[in-house]
Amino acid sequence: MIKVGGSLVSDKCTDDHLDATAVRDYASLVADLVRTFPGRAVFVAGGGALGHGSVRDLDAADEFASLGLTNATFAVKWAWTTAFREAGIRAMPMQVAAICSERGDGIAADITVVRRLLAEGVLPVLSGDCVLTAAGGLRIFGSDHVPGMLIEDSLAPVRIVTLTDVPGILTGSSEDDPVLPWVDADDPAPAHKLVWEAAEWDTSGAMGGKLDALVAHAQRGAECVVTGGDRYAAGLRHMFAPIAEWPQAVPYTLIARATPP
Ligand code: ATP
Repeated sequence: MIKVGGSLVSDKCTDDHLDATAVRDYASLVADLVRTFPGRAVFVAGGGALGHGSVRDLDAADEFASLGLTNATFAVKWAWTTAFREAGIRAMPMQVAAICSERGDGIAADITVVRRLLAEGVLPVLSGDCVLTAAGGLRIFGSDHVPGMLIEDSLAPVRIVTLTDVPGILTGSSEDDPVLPWVDADDPAPAHKLVWEAAEWDTSGAMGGKLDALVAHAQRGAECVVTGGDRYAAGLRHMFAPIAEWPQAVPYTLIARATPP
């Protein structure tokens, strides 16, 4: 599963920016991957400025206040889908709100159609969304949480690669500091200590939110990677290879269990 962070294709400080050229460039990298490994990749689009912009200043008294997120993130999915189609890939946007809802014991999803798309060699295009809560209201379901619905035996083993605007979890306060190579999903506290305070405009907790989501996915058996989206001009094909075989020049943070479940 490949997630392209909103920060790579939009200025998240604004409410509606989306860089069509950046979307096209990343879409053609992902298209190459899909052509090489048909039916094995699922794409998740970060909400970027449109996603964050639609959920700022929500009315806390309105339990349906986050409904606009499904509209905003559909626009993002459509931009990606159009770019994939231009790159010659059959891609299909899917509304997560329509296949996934919250129950008392967590999120329940029906991924029958996702599986069917993969079987037909079609690229499913997902994103964050609002989801129905157990109490019948809506809540925000961020894009870093979306891959969790696809961690199941029929699709195993699952690898979740999140491309973002930093080369991984940095151990200091600048990009020149080394990247933390590994987070033990059963002991993420040391990694949490490295997380910087999120900006005020950020609605998903930046790296802290990403880390929480990926640790949860890793505890359920997925192999999760945070890496810089600007490092992959040479292509993404290594993403289906064992991690040990990834190009040495590419930094990343791996979030996984020391011993598989
Ligand atoms: P999304 O699309 O879900 O919004 P994204 O890929 O745009 O995701 P962010 O949610 O903005 O990414 O998370 C990346 C940001 O996390 C970085 O730009 C950085 O400001 C912040 N961050 C906080 N702590 C760290 C850290 N220790 N190392 C690297 N980045 C960190």
